[in-house]
Amino acid sequence: MQLYNSVTKTKDEFIPNEAGKVSMYTCGPTVYHFAHIGNLRTYIMEDVLDRYLRYAGYEVTRVMNITDVGHLTSDADTGEDKMLKGAKREKKTVMEIAQFYTDKFFEDCEALHIRRPEIVEPATGCIDEFIKVISSLLEKGYAYEAGGNIYFDTSKLKQYYVFHNFEEEDLAVGVREGVEEDGNKRNKADFVLWFTKSKFDDQELKWESPWGVGYPGWHIECSCISMKHLGDKLDIHCGGIDNAFPHHTNEIAQSEAYLGHKWCNWWVHVLHLNTNSGKMSKSKGEFLTLSLLKSKGYDPMVYRFFCLQSHYRKSLVFSYENMDNAKVAYNKLVARVAALEKDGEIDGAAFDAQKANFAKALDNDLNTSLAVTAVYDVLKADTNGATKRALLADFDRVLCLDLLEKADALNREKEAEAQKPVSDDPVIREIEDMIAQRAAAKKAKNYAEADRIRAELLAKGVTLIDTKDGTTYQIG
Ligand code: AMP
Ligand code: ZN
Repeated sequence: MQLYNSVTKTKDEFIPNEAGKVSMYTCGPTVYHFAHIGNLRTYIMEDVLDRYLRYAGYEVTRVMNITDVGHLTSDADTGEDKMLKGAKREKKTVMEIAQFYTDKFFEDCEALHIRRPEIVEPATGCIDEFIKVISSLLEKGYAYEAGGNIYFDTSKLKQYYVFHNFEEEDLAVGVREGVEEDGNKRNKADFVLWFTKSKFDDQELKWESPWGVGYPGWHIECSCISMKHLGDKLDIHCGGIDNAFPHHTNEIAQSEAYLGHKWCNWWVHVLHLNTNSGKMSKSKGEFLTLSLLKSKGYDPMVYRFFCLQSHYRKSLVFSYENMDNAKVAYNKLVARVAALEKDGEIDGAAFDAQKANFAKALDNDLNTSLAVTAVYDVLKADTNGATKRALLADFDRVLCLDLLEKADALNREKEAEAQKPVSDDPVIREIEDMIAQRAAAKKAKNYAEADRIRAELLAKGVTLIDTKDGTTYQIG
């Protein structure tokens, strides 16, 4: 598989450290609010990578952190702890909101068929690991104490900026918001490993440490949680593009300073979901959630389909018009799958050819839009329905779009509809007949005829009511 690496800035042949096994780390959510659908885009694309590696035969061990402490309102170590801000907003404790939003996050993941990683670890569960690594960094001279806080000294590294050619706009995230310079820092890029002093003395969660009572910085948590569970060599580290700097840059700095060797081989970054007015963010308070999409009638599978239609390294624009297009396309796809015959023997040669087409798409830097095209290729292929259904089931191990399940449900609905008892009452039968004729006229875009039937029924005292599930009526 060719997989783009943000460090080398090229698509490289993916080779894990240990043959047949992949260790994968994903930055998890900061659980101070609901995940927005931009966050969820990142998790969907990471999920497809995870699932495709498994599909390709790798044994994947995946770890994700839950940020329940240390992520300040600016990624550049300034501002208030996001968790504390959330707790104040909801008049709850930090741990209460952490639990609530962690549960909500995994509910969204489930609805979107995002696999739960093998290991999910909250930052507050690893304080001892943070202290161990920070102590070692101090001993090795990579960290220093100033004004009560412990900082990482970026001047000690040969190269600190590893992802330097990201868009200015992305690089500036966080730094831009950090208006105030921290006078304790020796170098502008230095970052906090452990806080004992901050502008916000009401920090709710604090722990004893060799440097006083305090709490960890955000970046140290991902390094430590990854090393704790996946050892000192990591195959793939993922996150959204805004995580590249400063978060992942700092993770690399501190992990490699601690380990004394290269840590992670592949850095995979998902570009943002934007709205027409720009970046989507939780802190701006203008975010869209999966529940909101559901309440507007979009199945979570439509959102997953929308995301898969574009490549993870391209930013994606969200609009309701784009969602409507995805909904129409998804429903048409389900209807086409529903029309497939189930009988027949699986045609091995056709199966292998289509499967190779699908794998080729994903082997090319996880090209999900071509993988979706491979689904349409199956429907068009010159082979029987049984082979097509088997292929769709196989592809859905990666795409997880529920195509067969939805298609079978649609067929069951149609069957139930066809078996509805016909009324004995001739008047009712006539009304229902006319409603069916009107529906057929509308489908044929013969709106004049449809209107004529509606008027004829109205004249007989029957008012038609069109709903999204069909037409009902009222008499009198
Ligand atoms: P957070 O909960 O803020 O720590 O973010 C969780 C994940 O979502 C991280 O991997 C972020 O990089 C990613 N992310 C944040 N905003 C967006 C966005 N607009 N589009 C896609 N991913 C995002
Ligand atoms: Zn992280």
